[in-house]
Amino acid sequence: MTEKPAQKNPASSRQNIRKWILIVSFLLIPVTIFYISPIILMMGAAEGIATGSMILLILLFVLSFFVARLWCGWLCPMGAWQEICSPIMKHTVQEGWRKYIKYGIAALWLGMLALSIVTVGGIRSVDPFYGTVNGISISSPDVLMVVAVIFAIIFVTAYLAGRRGFCSVLCPMAVVMIIGRKIGNLVNLPALRLTADPSRCIDCGKCSKACPMGLDVNGMVQKGEMETPECILCASCADTCPQGAIEYGTGRR
Ligand code: SF4
Ligand code: SF4
Repeated sequence: MTEKPAQKNPASSRQNIRKWILIVSFLLIPVTIFYISPIILMMGAAEGIATGSMILLILLFVLSFFVARLWCGWLCPMGAWQEICSPIMKHTVQEGWRKYIKYGIAALWLGMLALSIVTVGGIRSVDPFYGTVNGISISSPDVLMVVAVIFAIIFVTAYLAGRRGFCSVLCPMAVVMIIGRKIGNLVNLPALRLTADPSRCIDCGKCSKACPMGLDVNGMVQKGEMETPECILCASCADTCPQGAIEYGTGRR
């Protein structure tokens, strides 16, 4: 008897939940943006202060051993902004050299961060609320203007490079999570990953079309190799596949 393929609703509840989480993350930007900002992290480090954004970066690094870039796909407000704008983006991210730009930016940023910390004599205090007013990040028109300019840059990057272009091309925090995932895989930690069953695949290409990071998911399924630094574990591919060939799984490499 032929096994009946698993049928999935393309507008799955999982993707609806993910989109709602991203919308809430975006709406919370006036409160949360300083807890995420690499700029605030640098400003605090230059004074020997571990800010909320430094604590988050360390947390994301450690979590990435187990969940890779799940943060990018499910929680990041910058990612949320790109997905909100995605209906007007003409194309998805293209494979190629552009994705390496973020490694240069991250090397510069982390180098400057290390230099700041050494110059100031090390981290001497912790202030999770650094730069905020009563815990609120956007507390004046000036801050609002700076944040608006940053989000305009993210928009332009995504418009030029493709949906999620900022995540693929410019974001230095992505690199920190990519390094964390590599370490997790090197020491063979169990982790959340995509799994694929090539025998179910009918080569329709819907997964590749759905991938906001422009990955050749179809090819990955065929090769049985779903691990890639650019995957943000959004599960759009899994929830689009009519054959149920892709799913979240846990395990070691
Ligand atoms: S491969 Fe799948 S889970 Fe990874 S980014 Fe693309 S659509 Fe999302
Ligand atoms: S959407 Fe599913 S069936 Fe279609 S190419 Fe991708 S893995 Fe294969």
